[in-house]
Amino acid sequence: MCNRTLVARVSTLIAAFLFVMVSGLSVARAQNQDFSKIEIKVTKVSGNIYMLQGAGGNIAASVGDDGIVIVDDQFAPLADKIQAALKTLGVTDKPVRFVINTHYHGDHTGGNAPFANSGSTVIAQDNVRKRLQTGGVAGNGGSVKMELKPADKAALPIITFEHDVTVHLNGEDIRALHFPAGHTDGDAVIFFPKNNVVHMGDDFVRYGFPFIDVASGGSVQGMAAAMEKVSSELPKDVKVIPGHGDLSNLDDVRAFVQMLKETTAAVQKAMNEHKTVDQMKQEKILDPWKKWSGEFVDADKFIETVYNSLTNHPGDFVKHN
Ligand SMILES: [Zn+2]
Repeated sequence: MCNRTLVARVSTLIAAFLFVMVSGLSVARAQNQDFSKIEIKVTKVSGNIYMLQGAGGNIAASVGDDGIVIVDDQFAPLADKIQAALKTLGVTDKPVRFVINTHYHGDHTGGNAPFANSGSTVIAQDNVRKRLQTGGVAGNGGSVKMELKPADKAALPIITFEHDVTVHLNGEDIRALHFPAGHTDGDAVIFFPKNNVVHMGDDFVRYGFPFIDVASGGSVQGMAAAMEKVSSELPKDVKVIPGHGDLSNLDDVRAFVQMLKETTAAVQKAMNEHKTVDQMKQEKILDPWKKWSGEFVDADKFIETVYNSLTNHPGDFVKHN
């Protein structure tokens, strides 16, 4: 096989994998994936907080004498491996008592049913339960579009909250705070104040231009507002767990916010000049930010995302924080 074929095949594979992993919201789709080769990588973040990576969204875990609290749970077929990785830490024999979902997408909630079936209580924002229950269409309002089936009853969060909720375990006040219109309309950022760690969910990711689920109430302005608000209030040495990608810091979040704001301004300017989305793509108006263009969300898809955000969401993004 010549190099070019290999590269083409590998990049097709990566694209397919990313599509399933990042956008791969449907549990049905996930079950067609081969998870047997996925290994769970555990990183100690700070004190008794760990980050787990396998396939799908990053997991945060508070592991201590009271038991385990995890944030997000990847895909159902990985639940046993996640449980095993937590046990291998040798910190506690106690179970995963709570799972907190950062949002409803299947690469973050796919393990809800198996964790619930083994005794965990799943907690999420009101809109997470609603969207899991009904299913629907997720997407950027343009060419990224995915049909989602209603989730099984066992996967539905048992405890939901509108604004915020706090789980008091392992000597920590683990707080989930809702931001209304970022990656989706049900996003929560999860704070571990004692250990100075935050899990951003998919309001902050490291794979380039972010997927924003405009079809599920998300918007680029809401994502920027949420991340700007959070980064302005956290200690400067806070450890940041992104929805996808490696452990980060506040400078990474600020660079991300800056990119969101600058690209939004560029699309807004083009809209003010009455340009169509096709013209914006032809003129490559996001070329100055092309280093953010990724396999899953390239510059053209991000133009659609920003355009649809600006068209659908006039404002009010951190209303009750
Ligand atoms: Zn997501």
